[in-house]
Amino acid sequence: MAYDYDLFVIGAGSGGVRASRVSAGYGARVAIAEEYRLGGTCVVRGCVPKKLFVYGAHFHEAFEEATSFGWQLPEGEIAFNWHILRDNKDKEIARLEGFYGRMLEQSGVKIYPSRATFLDAHTLRLGNETVSADKILIATGSRPIMPETPGIEHAISSNEAFHLPDFPNRVAVVGSGYIAVEFAGIFNGLGAETTLIYRSPMILKSFDRDIRTHLAGQMAEKGIVLRHSTKVSAIEKLTSGEKRLTLSDGSTLVVDEVMYATGRRANTDHLGLETVGVKTAQSGAVIVDDDHQTCVDTIYAVGDVTDRVQLTPVAIKEGTAFADSVFGGRPWTMSRQTIPTAVFSQPPVGTVGLTEQDARARGYDVAIYRSVFRQLKHTLTPSGEKTMMKLIVDKKTDTVLGAHMVGPEAGEIIQGIGIAVKMGATKAQFDQTVAIHPSAAEEFVTMRLPVTE
Ligand code: NDP
Repeated sequence: MAYDYDLFVIGAGSGGVRASRVSAGYGARVAIAEEYRLGGTCVVRGCVPKKLFVYGAHFHEAFEEATSFGWQLPEGEIAFNWHILRDNKDKEIARLEGFYGRMLEQSGVKIYPSRATFLDAHTLRLGNETVSADKILIATGSRPIMPETPGIEHAISSNEAFHLPDFPNRVAVVGSGYIAVEFAGIFNGLGAETTLIYRSPMILKSFDRDIRTHLAGQMAEKGIVLRHSTKVSAIEKLTSGEKRLTLSDGSTLVVDEVMYATGRRANTDHLGLETVGVKTAQSGAVIVDDDHQTCVDTIYAVGDVTDRVQLTPVAIKEGTAFADSVFGGRPWTMSRQTIPTAVFSQPPVGTVGLTEQDARARGYDVAIYRSVFRQLKHTLTPSGEKTMMKLIVDKKTDTVLGAHMVGPEAGEIIQGIGIAVKMGATKAQFDQTVAIHPSAAEEFVTMRLPVTE
């Protein structure tokens, strides 16, 4: 055996853990290095704690709506305790981290709790140790980017938002991508006066335009102040600890906390990639081919560090494809077509396939089916929440090219619809599907007539 391991994985996040476990299952001798906590961004400071906060934020509305269904709440204000939510979330993350550790050990994967840097194409330094491997997989993920705004040191990113010592009464969130929109909903739902500040005219750049407009309206309805086409020119920390933001229109805003969610950068600094000749893009992302291989044939990369599609389930699929192909003798290439995704905003967004704008840009002659309605539950509540569903259909073949939704459980609903869209289902097949009544999801199989505009 020329090397200590058959595979050494750098980074124990979603992609790295999956690749190591599956490779070990094929009999490979595998080790993994993690300098922070097992589980990576998704488990430690991303999807999982974020979703727990989203659940927490929903209770605000649930209490308001409960009285319409006859529930009598105690007199006085119903109070939210941040410390309980934060600490319970921390306990769950610690439990998950332990679970990841046991899972790796039971799979026969050796864990190195330290940072790894390349010495050559088969050798890594881990603290005072040097280890060698036949193949090395880079799965180091990404981290938030903070722009060079004066006073940016007074702002936090989503990393810190998970651990705030106290809950802020007034929050500004900067950005309008997944993270900004999700955290604006969390802060607002948990009771903070929330302002979302973004440079573009509309939130969620790559999403369907109707969905973006509808969600923005719903967020405003729920009390979030949306400051579109606005930049933060400077942040100043006052002696009171508050932060005063100067905005591009010359106005100021005083808040307790300002959180930036302005994109993420691949974690490739100080890895020694230049030593081994692994090429990176200007963004810092590792450049790989369809088989996750870098320009150095013993070194591979999966997940956010490659900055292709920054989604946990994509990293997991990439990790599986890598292990099956390199150690399992079952090579396959991951398809990036028709990836369903959800934004856990309030209300959430679920989407799969082409937007109306993308479909038209690709030359499709499309029929658009769109429905905006108040869900049955809200016939009894004071809520003005409206759900939107939309189908993009190719007129020539009747294929459903895209399905989009803003409304409760959009992620859960679109997951199922995603299978149909992935399989190339036609609108006629959607229509032949019997509705589940009464549900919101049934609208996807009962939209009879296209919109005429
Ligand atoms: P995104 O790339 O989604 O959004 C970045 C946002 O920051 C955009 O609104 C962009 O504006 C804005 N922005 C960028 N630079 C600046 C700047 N200098 N000043 C002001 N605004 C700026 O990044 P996120 O950080 O929200 O999320 C990163 C990735 O994580 C996502 O792409 C997604 O793949 C993943 N993710 C997925 C989740 C899910 O599946 N539910 C949840 C959270 C994250 P503009 O639009 O004008 O360019």
